Amino acid sequence: MTRLRVDHNGSLAIPGELIRQLGLQPGGAVEVEASESGLLLHRVPDQPQPSLQQSIARKNLAVGMQFIKGVGPKLADLLAKREIHTVEDALFCLPHRYEDRRELVPIRQLQPGMPQVFQGTVLSANGATTKGGRTVFEVLVQDATGSILLKWFHANPLWMQRTWKVGRRGVFTGEVSSFGYLREVHHPDVEWLAEGADVQAVMAADPVNFGRIVPVYPLTEGLHQKAMRKVMRQIVDNYLDSVENVLPLSLLSPHRYLPLREALSQAHLPPSEATLADLNTGHTPAHRSLAFDEFFFWELGLALKKRGVALEEGIAFQVTHRYTKELARLLPFQLTAAQRRVLSEIKEDMMAPHPMHRLVQGDVGSGKTLVALMAALVAVENGYQVAIMAPTEILAEQHWHNIHHWCDQLGVRVVLLTAGLRGTAKKDAMALVADGSAAIVIGTHAVIQDKVEFQRLGLGIVDEQHRFGVLQRGILKKKGNNPDILVMTATPIPRTLAMTLFGDLSLSVIDALPPGRTPIETRIYFESRRHQVYELIRGEVGQGRQAYVIYPLVEESEKSDLKAATQMAQHLQAEVFPGLRVGLLHGRMKPEEKEAAMLAFKQREMDILVATTVIEVGIDVPNATLMVIEHSERFGLSQLHQLRGRVGRGAHRSRCILLTPGKLSEDGERRLRVMEATTDGFKIAEADLEIRGPGDFLGTRQSGMPDFRVASILRDGAILEQARDAACGLLEQDAALTSAEGRRIKEELLRRWGTRLELAGVA
Ligand code: ADP
Ligand code: MG
Repeated sequence: MTRLRVDHNGSLAIPGELIRQLGLQPGGAVEVEASESGLLLHRVPDQPQPSLQQSIARKNLAVGMQFIKGVGPKLADLLAKREIHTVEDALFCLPHRYEDRRELVPIRQLQPGMPQVFQGTVLSANGATTKGGRTVFEVLVQDATGSILLKWFHANPLWMQRTWKVGRRGVFTGEVSSFGYLREVHHPDVEWLAEGADVQAVMAADPVNFGRIVPVYPLTEGLHQKAMRKVMRQIVDNYLDSVENVLPLSLLSPHRYLPLREALSQAHLPPSEATLADLNTGHTPAHRSLAFDEFFFWELGLALKKRGVALEEGIAFQVTHRYTKELARLLPFQLTAAQRRVLSEIKEDMMAPHPMHRLVQGDVGSGKTLVALMAALVAVENGYQVAIMAPTEILAEQHWHNIHHWCDQLGVRVVLLTAGLRGTAKKDAMALVADGSAAIVIGTHAVIQDKVEFQRLGLGIVDEQHRFGVLQRGILKKKGNNPDILVMTATPIPRTLAMTLFGDLSLSVIDALPPGRTPIETRIYFESRRHQVYELIRGEVGQGRQAYVIYPLVEESEKSDLKAATQMAQHLQAEVFPGLRVGLLHGRMKPEEKEAAMLAFKQREMDILVATTVIEVGIDVPNATLMVIEHSERFGLSQLHQLRGRVGRGAHRSRCILLTPGKLSEDGERRLRVMEATTDGFKIAEADLEIRGPGDFLGTRQSGMPDFRVASILRDGAILEQARDAACGLLEQDAALTSAEGRRIKEELLRRWGTRLELAGVA
């Protein structure tokens, strides 16, 4: 026992001997815990210090490109344009294609369709002007087997004439185009041969550009392939060793993936056994391994986040059935099996003592609103409040209409908060929320986030409809004490995308529509058959049904589009259907006007409603059985699908006509054909993703998609699944990533995605 005295500063100094007994090194730390009998000192485990070797490696990867030998300020600027700032950026900038330059091809045997290497002597070289006024420079070269024409467009003829002297020999690389019998090579690469030089020897002396499958890197204006290839080769030769193979073989070997360093090396410098086709489609072991590496860390981050939430304390609701049973009795129909399944998944989450983070996907009309309402009632039964957030005012209002209709009968108070609410009306509404007398609060995302204070928020429902990725879960959480969160989306998201975007959420899918819906028949009509479309409308209305005519509204040309819609309504009324009642609905109308138009259509006071895309989410009219979409080629697939979902909601057979002027782009035609072929939202989403790619599919840059450098969600879906399984498997063995391997992986995860995934509090 050692006795210590408090010094005159009021501090207690602990002698070095005791500190050593604690096993503390200089720089180490202790935690002090006060207990009844005194203080307890705990040694804080040492932070793993990166080894010297590791620190050097990290520093190497961070070296700026301007410090690389042969890279001057100008080249560095060009590389920066391609987001290559550091050695690490460069290593992960992969070739976008590859060329087979292993062997010289005799000119006679050159095949169109892929770049090949050949050698020859210049026979003639001339500048010329085509009939169209373009300048062309033409060179004829020949070898022992034949000759071929080389062509340049827009080249400087003087400079070309100086370079391309008759009799000069060179090695050329380029792709043969064939026009009937004519074979030509446009803009080939050239490597000049000195007089009497041996071709094979020259090629052997330049292993960066010849004698192998060579990488072709993405360029930018002013950056040339040869320069780029040279820089990249240098980086690979000198810095690849600095790349750390963080993932252990135990994770890689089940699917025979390569360690990161090896994969990078092979992607830049393909081994001799790689095939050109695999390389160019990203299917080599190297490319697949790189995709796995990227997906793995992302999925691990999401899984950690999900686990973090699962460990948080939340509200454990009880299912008392007080309101939910009552509502089920009031409904004129039964819940579908899909609705029941999703609802029980939600209830299970709500009963657990941890916060729920669940995403419900369901096609338009699958009955999400009702599922949301049931969940809301569970919270209300427990004396908690519910916030329902919608992306637009119209949607918020529609939810309010649907929900308060039922809640009034149950005696549950629902409040609608709109941006337009003013003065005392607003004050009153806010007061109802603040003192807890409003059980369910409905509003737009903005309104609920900004202004509202809840008395006791227990559940937040975020309706994203077709805008997703902007999940404002964080803000809702702060409005209550770790409330449960339910996110709803009407856009079916392909599984791979959902795994990438929402891997930290639990996923429920309402995968069936309520019974009694007849499938919608969809047909493409070209402009020339417009009169037939009018006859269809006339026929439908003649049978007591109603029709929509939809106009695209593109933001850039909003005014003229609005005019087109307005004029169309007038034209249809005055000239085409003078005997029928034609109405108009667009986003620029006042809310009351919109409401009035929708109501009039719903109550059959109109036969035809001409509308812009406002209608997408706004309206539910079972008697409307025909939808004509003008300029359907201008819409995205998901949007077309959303629009089409406005018909086919009743028992009558419904039709959707895709009108289009005739000349369609390839993608445009593909989109419309998909619409004809299926009404399955998931199939449409898959096709949309395939046609547009993930970035555009999601609509915005802030869509929440991570920027993968190599991996592609479209191409590498199977690898994504493996990566996720591997990440979950790892966490099962080492939940907090505390093993030596786990620590390294965690460190790398934080380095790559820590900020992006807000992992600070989790990992
Ligand atoms: P979503 O929000 O998924 O687009 P809604 O919740 O608006 O779909 O439901 C579409 C329509 O189907 C509504 O009129 C709703 O009352 C009705 N509905 C919902 N569930 C069922 C069901 N189980 N059986 C019959 N009709 C249903
Ligand atoms: Mg809905």
